[in-house]
Amino acid sequence: MTKLVDSFGRQITYLRLAVTDRCNLRCTYCMPAEGAAIVDRKELLTYKEMYRITRVLSELGVNKVRITGGEPFVRKDLMGFLKMMSFNELLEEINITTNGVLVGVHAEKLSEFKVKTINLSIDSLQPEKFAQITRRSVFEKVWETLERIEKSDLKLKLNVVVQSGVNTDEINDFVELTRDREIEVRFIEEMPFNGVGIRSKDVVWDYKRILEEIKKKHPELAPLPVKKSSTSKNFKIKGAKGIVGIIPAYTRTICSDCNRIRITSTGDLKNCLFDEGVYSIRDFLRSEASDEELKQLFVDLVSKKPKDGFAAEENRKKNKNVSESMSSIGG
Ligand code: SAM
Ligand code: SF4
Repeated sequence: MTKLVDSFGRQITYLRLAVTDRCNLRCTYCMPAEGAAIVDRKELLTYKEMYRITRVLSELGVNKVRITGGEPFVRKDLMGFLKMMSFNELLEEINITTNGVLVGVHAEKLSEFKVKTINLSIDSLQPEKFAQITRRSVFEKVWETLERIEKSDLKLKLNVVVQSGVNTDEINDFVELTRDREIEVRFIEEMPFNGVGIRSKDVVWDYKRILEEIKKKHPELAPLPVKKSSTSKNFKIKGAKGIVGIIPAYTRTICSDCNRIRITSTGDLKNCLFDEGVYSIRDFLRSEASDEELKQLFVDLVSKKPKDGFAAEENRKKNKNVSESMSSIGG
């Protein structure tokens, strides 16, 4: 089988697929209060197109797909799409990143469609602060989803974007959640993907600083073995059921064994989160390309995957500084 291997010998086995650029929240670190610019519906990939892209990629060795957005559950009939995707026998797992607001009723059904893990974004455990961050009063709904997923047979990971002076005082409250719960709490370095591009924060909370903050309270924090191609470095507090992870998303020390590519909701292939979108797969598909031609295209594009996120940023032509909203890229 032809595989997707880049010029640094990294094999691509993981696709992050953004099914929409729309969102029902307005997180301050992701987009402006009025929302990010969204594209016309016909610019979005259809479910059929997404299925075909995934099918072709799975024939090239991709066995894991993460569904993201915007907010995936805002797209009509996402459950129908997940069912369709589950018919692809080459896919081993489908995971979803979601803000959790619209997931509740579907929680128990997801595992029927090869969904194994839900990454739930939750940046504060305080309802009022949560409302300030997301600009919507939905904490209770998200917490309800969290509890429902916990009771289901899905694996639960919490995504916490560490925002200087906003939720840094809660880092150890989140760590505490892992004591009695079999969950993974993952702290993510904030990036400038906010639709504005300016990180107007006085102190940067990077991997090192987050770790120091946890160690202040938990000096015994134990590192866990490094998993290949994992985005997070993982730890455990003494006697805990769950895991604490830190994702160096902005300091980018995890690129050397990257196994992923992204397809945005408009069908641009991104070899790296920090590149500009290297090719419109949508336009290629809509020009009546065959599956064989599509396969060759993926092989060629992936061979140009940049060494790391810094090289990808350096290669940007139009917007030198990263500034697009994460909702348009598919975080
Ligand atoms: N709407 C869904 C959600 O929030 O989980 C899925 C899409 S969201 C873009 C995916 C992930 O990217 C979320 O965990 C979110 O917190 C994270 N994210 C968004 N903007 C970010 C930024 N500027 N820096 C770091 N992470 C960000
Ligand atoms: Fe929406 Fe997710 Fe961005 Fe928040 S982080 S605005 S939930 S896409």
